[in-house]
Amino acid sequence: MADSFEEVISQIKDRLDIVDVVSGYVALKKSGANYWGLCPFHNDKKPSMSVSPSKGIYKCFSCGAGGDALSFLVKIQNREYKDVILELAEKFGIELPKKFHSSQETKDQKKEMIKACSKAAKFYNLMLKSADDANKAMTALRARSITDDIIEKFTLGWAPNKYDTLYKELRKEFKDEILEKAGLILKSNSGGWIDRFRNRIIIPIQNESGEYVAFGARAVDEGQNPKYLNSSDSLIYNKSKILFGLNSAQESIKSEDGVIIMEGYFDVISAQAHGVENAVASCGTALTQDHVKLLSRYTKSRRIYLSFDTDSAGINATKKGSAVIKETLSAIGDIKQFDESHISTGVDNKYACEIRVVSQPQGKDPDEFIRTNGGEAFKEYVKNAPLLIDFLLNNTLKEKNNAKTPQQKAELVAQIIEILKDVNNKIIQSEYVKMVSSVINVDESSMLKELAQYEKFGEAAEFFRPNPKLVTNSSQFEIKAQKNLLSVFLTNDSPLTFKQINELLPENIIQDETLIIVKNTIDKFVCTINNVKELTKSLYTEFIEDDNLTRVITDMIELSEAFNGLEPEEFERAVIENVDRLKKVYREKETNALRQKYKSVNDDEIEALKIQMQLRDKIKLRTGDK
Ligand code: ATP
Ligand code: MN
Repeated sequence: MADSFEEVISQIKDRLDIVDVVSGYVALKKSGANYWGLCPFHNDKKPSMSVSPSKGIYKCFSCGAGGDALSFLVKIQNREYKDVILELAEKFGIELPKKFHSSQETKDQKKEMIKACSKAAKFYNLMLKSADDANKAMTALRARSITDDIIEKFTLGWAPNKYDTLYKELRKEFKDEILEKAGLILKSNSGGWIDRFRNRIIIPIQNESGEYVAFGARAVDEGQNPKYLNSSDSLIYNKSKILFGLNSAQESIKSEDGVIIMEGYFDVISAQAHGVENAVASCGTALTQDHVKLLSRYTKSRRIYLSFDTDSAGINATKKGSAVIKETLSAIGDIKQFDESHISTGVDNKYACEIRVVSQPQGKDPDEFIRTNGGEAFKEYVKNAPLLIDFLLNNTLKEKNNAKTPQQKAELVAQIIEILKDVNNKIIQSEYVKMVSSVINVDESSMLKELAQYEKFGEAAEFFRPNPKLVTNSSQFEIKAQKNLLSVFLTNDSPLTFKQINELLPENIIQDETLIIVKNTIDKFVCTINNVKELTKSLYTEFIEDDNLTRVITDMIELSEAFNGLEPEEFERAVIENVDRLKKVYREKETNALRQKYKSVNDDEIEALKIQMQLRDKIKLRTGDK
């Protein structure tokens, strides 16, 4: 029996053959030492994915997806890696360590907790119809146009304004421990048990299979805080993995092939009650990658509508939410970036996802809008919802009248370039530039040049930009050089030990945030591991949940090829050369930053002089060591 989870993964990996695994999904053709096929993670036209049986990895040279056999399976099945592993362990007859089975005791507890939540939901619902003080709840619900049908559909309820209405009822059937774990009761100051939810409208939360697992509770009195009180996470409830309304929305999400994400419980309640069935909301938390993964199981084309409030907080939530969606799905391929109304390519492209923004007018949230204008009117907005990119552009262009001076215009252009730089298709990008430049009245060709500049130097071009907010981390080149250097550790027949390699690397030579994580993890492993194959395997296992890091490791394996088959002295020289080159890049960057600073403090003569001297020293140093 395997005695740790890592051991289970390791045993599974030993049994997976990369060619077999990938062939299960993609037709592969042998060419030389490798196999080639159409990459399943983007809309591939000619085979750009290679599979290397000797290295045990796959890598797409077009979209950059890559990893080992297990990460391929996790990615293509788009499931929790733990579930994939459990299934494979069973398939291969690998016995799981005891602690990995959830114990019978935990299983029983979960069952009891779900039963208690279900009883609680029904009890609160009954209280709404019968408690002495339920009137104000009913009035509040009616004021929101909530009918009896809606109350029953969502099992809405009322937690009376007493200390132990629910506890008194449920203690007959459940242990205190269960009720506490389910988040229904709390220890009071005097040591007894009291209800967690009091004087609130209750909105039960169901999981995908319709089991009651948690509650949202809305205040009813003026000044009653917080406005919403939500269940904390428990054995049966993980708020970053559950979406309110998904249980009743799943059929419609499938048939509409799209899902609408809203902000609040009542947005979803109104939507679903008025025929907009494919609406869900996160429960008092921001959208997470797990939410997105969950939703992408239900919609084939991964069409996601964000329908948040139309105020500035809502716009921020839209930006943050779309960033999470992009991050979660970017590895699968491109995000749809244009509408047929802008330009028609006549190609039926398949996208990783399509993000649209529903922004109903008048600064209303979806709930209010639907109550006033009805479900059909809302559906019209959904039908005409702009793509994220158009929504962001329009929002930025709204500011155009505030941009009067050349400086302000440059700043506005910088913001627009932030949005347009993500457009992969050059023709579409230039169409956007044409449109935008005429709207804000700047020269089209200068804007194209700015954009090209950005692409050429990547983030480094920011030194030349008027917008200091955009200054972030290192250039593409720098990252590549650092990756290259780290790939030394993964060289198959390295003539040096890990310790010897480490001695060649100066401290702080790795500066990219992601690569620092990789370096630290390598450092951790090489204390106990002494061969490249084990190291590679352990790195993949460590990063199994992180698509980006899995890619980085795969890139490094590719890059390590360059160090293969070198004599010890050659190998050492190659490493040192790489280190020197990187040092030089860092120095140049520092100089550039100083130059920029010099430009910006030009008014302050003394400060400028100081920086000028530093700059001169730097340049002297650089020419000196040539
Ligand atoms: P209402 O229409 O009842 O005023 P809303 O849905 O418009 O509510 P928002 O303030 O927009 O309320 O909040 C949206 C969602 O954010 C709520 O449904 C709830 O899930 C969560 N939320 C709001 N306030 C809180 C809070 N104080 N604590 C925890 N979650 C909250
Ligand atoms: Mn509201």
